[in-house]
Amino acid sequence: MEPPDFTLTAGPTAASSRVLQALGSPVIFDYDPVFLERFRDTERKLAELMRTKNDVVLMQGEAVLGLEAAARALIRPGTRALNLVSGVYAAWFGDWLRDYGAEVIEHVVSYDEAIDPADVARLLDEHEGIEFVSIVHSETPSGIENPLGEIGRLAQSHGALMFADVVSALGGTDVRVDDWHVDLAVAGPQKCLAGPPGMSLISVSERAWQVMEDNPSAPRGSFLSLLDWKHKWIDGGRVAFPYTPSVSDVNGVNAAISEVLDTGGVDASIARHALAARATRAGVRAMGLELWPKSDDYAANCVTAVRCPEGIDVASTLGHIRERYGVMLSGGYGELKEKLFRLGHMGPAARSLNPLVAVGAFGRGLADLGADVNVGAGTEAVLAVLSEARAAEATAA
Ligand SMILES: *Cc1c(COP(=O)(O)O)cnc(C)c1O
Repeated sequence: MEPPDFTLTAGPTAASSRVLQALGSPVIFDYDPVFLERFRDTERKLAELMRTKNDVVLMQGEAVLGLEAAARALIRPGTRALNLVSGVYAAWFGDWLRDYGAEVIEHVVSYDEAIDPADVARLLDEHEGIEFVSIVHSETPSGIENPLGEIGRLAQSHGALMFADVVSALGGTDVRVDDWHVDLAVAGPQKCLAGPPGMSLISVSERAWQVMEDNPSAPRGSFLSLLDWKHKWIDGGRVAFPYTPSVSDVNGVNAAISEVLDTGGVDASIARHALAARATRAGVRAMGLELWPKSDDYAANCVTAVRCPEGIDVASTLGHIRERYGVMLSGGYGELKEKLFRLGHMGPAARSLNPLVAVGAFGRGLADLGADVNVGAGTEAVLAVLSEARAAEATAA
């Protein structure tokens, strides 16, 4: 079987030629000055993307490793935590919090809605002594974006530590770690940054470091240890790693982040993702299909989630689209597996006419299998949004 011509999924997403070239560049000694400088450069650029002066840590392992490392480091038995759940990843995070002994207050909303900051304010008032608030900024499995800015400020004003999974948010929507008082954020390179899946990109505030230092259950001398990175790498003046970094992954992540910064910067990247999302939503609606998020106000920039039409099977439809048109799309994930389709528009997939390819292949594939969709109206609608935006850009330039 050949790889697909288009990977327009919920991630990992297609990498650019610059990233591929970096991944294929020579594997050098980790203490070679070239690599040391590249590692530090990646940290500086990541901090710029995250809009933070906090320390950043590049951990070796796909973002789940960073999420687990953060939970283990920040939670001790008895930590009073408020976990905000609007999707699959936040529910999973809650399981970790409980595993490590936190006393968890879980606020769960329907997975087609976002968290309302008014509820967070009420819960923080109602429950005395909440020390930790966790949220997933952009819930990739359901295409929902939560208002991290407002919630971060609420956590701060109540004296709680703010934790955010920004894995699929960074580069695709605004992430302001410092302005929003996010004490610990975990991003992934394989989503909107279009890098390789294999690293966790983490920012840690002074306060979060202190919580870890004071936590006897925080991992030390472990692959899961954030503190090892602090003690060995950061405190030691960024000359010695706790263990050998994944040289090729660091090269790939550096290229991915540099590409965002070199092609208009983070704001331009966010604008591309927002436009692709808007075009995709317009196309899906015009075909006569229903979006999964109840409101566009909180529809994510990284993926568009679509309710599976009656009588259609998600897995066989995706297989058909891939086989006949060479386009890989995503289905649901976790408990939403059979309920929805996801059209990804992250990194290169947010550029050019990729939303047209996604909507066209999706609509035509559904029609082939007997669904009642208006493919022409869908593709027209995508083009109308893209063309109008491009014309406006040209006028402004
Ligand atoms: C992709 C993603 C992760 C990492 O999970 P994987 O499925 O292992 O890639 C975590 N959180 C969110 C919100 C994600 O989108």
